[in-house]
Parts: sequence; structure tokens; C-alpha cells
Amino acid sequence: MFLSKLFLPITKNLPSDAKIKSHQLMLRSGMIKQSSAGIYSWLPLGLKVMKKIEQVVREEQNNIGAQELLMPTIQSAEIWKESGRYNDYGEEMLRIKDRQGREMLYGPTNEELITDIFRSSIKSYKSLPQMLYHIQWKFRDEIRPRFGVMRCREFFMKDAYSFDLDDTTAKASYNKMFYSYLKTFKRLGLEAIPMAADTGPIGGDLSHEFIIIAETGESKIYMDKSIFKIDINNYTFNNSSLEKMIKDYSSLYAVTDDKFKKNEFEKKVTKENQMITKGIEVGHIFYFGDKYSKPLNCFVDNQDGKKNAVKMGSYGIGVSRLVGAIIEAKYENEIMKWPRSVSPFDVVIIPSISKNNKENLSKSIKIYDNLKKQNIDVLLDDVDENMSQKFKKHDLIGIPYQIIVGSKSTENKIEFKEVNSESSFIDLKDIKSKLIS
Ligand code: ATP
Ligand code: MG
Repeated sequence: MFLSKLFLPITKNLPSDAKIKSHQLMLRSGMIKQSSAGIYSWLPLGLKVMKKIEQVVREEQNNIGAQELLMPTIQSAEIWKESGRYNDYGEEMLRIKDRQGREMLYGPTNEELITDIFRSSIKSYKSLPQMLYHIQWKFRDEIRPRFGVMRCREFFMKDAYSFDLDDTTAKASYNKMFYSYLKTFKRLGLEAIPMAADTGPIGGDLSHEFIIIAETGESKIYMDKSIFKIDINNYTFNNSSLEKMIKDYSSLYAVTDDKFKKNEFEKKVTKENQMITKGIEVGHIFYFGDKYSKPLNCFVDNQDGKKNAVKMGSYGIGVSRLVGAIIEAKYENEIMKWPRSVSPFDVVIIPSISKNNKENLSKSIKIYDNLKKQNIDVLLDDVDENMSQKFKKHDLIGIPYQIIVGSKSTENKIEFKEVNSESSFIDLKDIKSKLIS
């Protein structure tokens, strides 16, 4: 892609409610545009990043055997009445009537709908366990939408649901998801800390939130620093190892505001290990047994021919919130550097161009063609601006690797730079290995 062709409405004018850096950066770099309170259009650059996050999330769900499907955004109120949540959900639910006067709603979550899909086709324990997920827009009429994509009304979420015959196997499904979440966030360049959580309106008694540390987070967190020493690579993907991993996490103090108890914190965590800071919730998992399956009549026959209510869990990741969360974690001193796994482009070529000298531009086009042939997603900054303006713009766009084409670069030895480190001169043929190593 040539930068002159990219739809990238960079703007300097920020609305006064853009208070945190991710919100500011996403507006300034033209990743999103607000369409109404808490509702955004995703412009090409922002959408590209979000799609990459979505793909990482998808791959890690598939890796643990979850299967993707797609449920609609608009749901009938009937199943919500059956589960008893239609009234409980309150004003966060956007309620709609169709032309026949039927009550509909824009889904804030999908426990009811997935249970309906499940109950209508699965009748025997032989078909269990199952894990199903989708990645879909949700709507919650949040009382205070704010912080850009972090707390909006319409947002993109991965939500998964597990179905098991009994508590033991259901716990094993929960453990798999727990592991998958840690792997997902790691691939996104984030250190997410699992914290025991309250279950809120979803219900149940086992729940963890996955929180990344950021000053601008909405959750206050209290934790034992040694939690950072736990390395998921030391555990294998079998249930006893995963049980051990969750036990290791649970043995160290890490809670949000709702669960904080001062004396417990001071008793369990040494002074030098105490960490009090803020964080952003990027994922939340729940085990709630038969809370929905019972009222919704989702039963299967067990080995003895008796009817069992299916044991369920639900597992969410805020895909659109993650775009902002990654910025909060990675944007420093006015410089953005996307983790390679989600960067909008693999590398950007920045030639020094002037009116009278287009030689660097033609050198750059040759490099561009060469990299394209190697399947590298490359952006070429062909805009006629001075170098300092260009660098400022790229500090905002955040592509982690740059090829700088000035008088010092020749066709074969080119200046290559990873953002926030020194540049070096390398052979064109070695670029690919630099981008994947
Ligand atoms: P929160 O406590 O932040 O309101 P929640 O507990 O209501 O979140 P869940 O129902 O567990 O959220 O949803 C799963 C994930 O979806 C959350 O972990 C979060 O990353 C994301 N999410 C929830 N609400 C929003 C929102 N209003 N805007 C953007 N992302 C959201
Ligand atoms: Mg929550």
C-alpha cells in the first residue's frame, strides 16, 4: 500500500472528552471515528489492527478445540423471558420492537441464544463436551460510555460457551479456556493477570477476570508482584498440569477493588511484593453450572438414561477494547509501537523525497516490489513531506519496523530500524528474516 492512497484521516483536533492516550491516538491517527455516543466507525487502519487481534483470538480458540459459529446481533425477547433475565438486565439492554410489535433486543451477551441452539439438537451425553464461540458485535447501553473503544455501547466481543455433563469435566473446559486466554494475550504482546472475580449478572460461583496493568484502567488492583514470575510455558496442555497452573496463580494475591481486603493483603503479601495499581479488564470467564440450562430446559441423557441439566460456562474477550488496551500498554513518550502480531503493516519504507529529487522514491519502489513478492505487508510513504514530519506521523501509526531510504542507503544495503532502537544497514535479502525472527 502507498501511503498517498491509504484512507488515513490524520487529525489534530481532538474532542475534549478524549482524555486517555488510546482514545486520543486512535482519533488522531484516523483509526476510528465516533458516530454517536459510544458508537464508532472503524476506519481502514483501525479495522486492520482489530482484524488481526480477532484472528489471534480465533486461532487460540480453535487450538483448544472450540468451534466457531455466528449468532445474530438481534435476538428475540422470548428466550430472555424464559431464562428470567429479560427484566433483570435492566437499562443496559437495547430493546426494539419489529413491525409486528414483537419484542426484540440487540444482544448484550449470548447465554440464552447459544443454550437454545444447543438444546434443540444435543440430546445425549455422547455429544459432550462441546465448546462453541463466535466473534460478534454486542450492544450495551452503558450509562457512561467513555475512553473511546474501551467502554463503548457497541463493541466487538469473542464469547465462547462450554457444555459438559458434570462439574468435573466442566471444570476441565474452564481450565482449557483459562490457558487459552493466557496464550492469546501473550501473543498480543500483553501480560494479562488472571484475578478471581465476582460473577455479577452472569451468575455462578467460579470466575476470573484477565487484567492488564495500565494507569488509565478502570479497575484498581492489588497484587503480589511475584505473579509475573509464573511462566505458562512451564505447564502442559493436560488437565492436571492446568489445574496446577491455576492453583499456582490462585496461591498469589491478585484482586480487583470488589474483592480487596486490606488485612488479607498485608498478611499474604510481603511489603516489597505489594503492588497497588490500575488495570484494564480484557477478558472474563465464568463457570455457572446449570444456571441457564435448567430454566431453559437444556437437558441431555446421561449414561444411565437419566436427564441431566447441562453444565455451562461462558468466556468473553473484548476484541475491540483490546485495540485500545494494547495502545495503553505500548504507547510511550508519544511513540506507538504495535506488537508485530497485530501491527497494521509489517514494515514501512520511508524515503527522503524532495521536489527535485525522486531518486530515493524510485529506489523505494524497487524495495517495495521486492518485499511484496515475499508476501510482506509493506507501506510505502510516498508523500512529499520532510523527514521530521514523516517520522512524527509514523510515531503515531506505530508500525514497529522502518526502512529509511536516504542518501546513505544503496539498492542493496539499506537502513533498517526497529522503533525505539538504533538503525543498522542490512542487505535487502535479509529483511524478511529480521521481520520474522
Ligand atoms: P466490565 O466489568 O468492564 O463492564 P463486563 O464484566 O461487563 O465488563 P463481560 O460481560 O465479561 O464484561 O464481557 C467480556 C469482555 O468484553 C470484557 O472483559 C471486556 O473486555 C469487554 N467489554 C465489556 N463491556 C464492554 C464495553 N462497554 N466496551 C468495550 N468492551 C467491553
Ligand atoms: Mg467484569
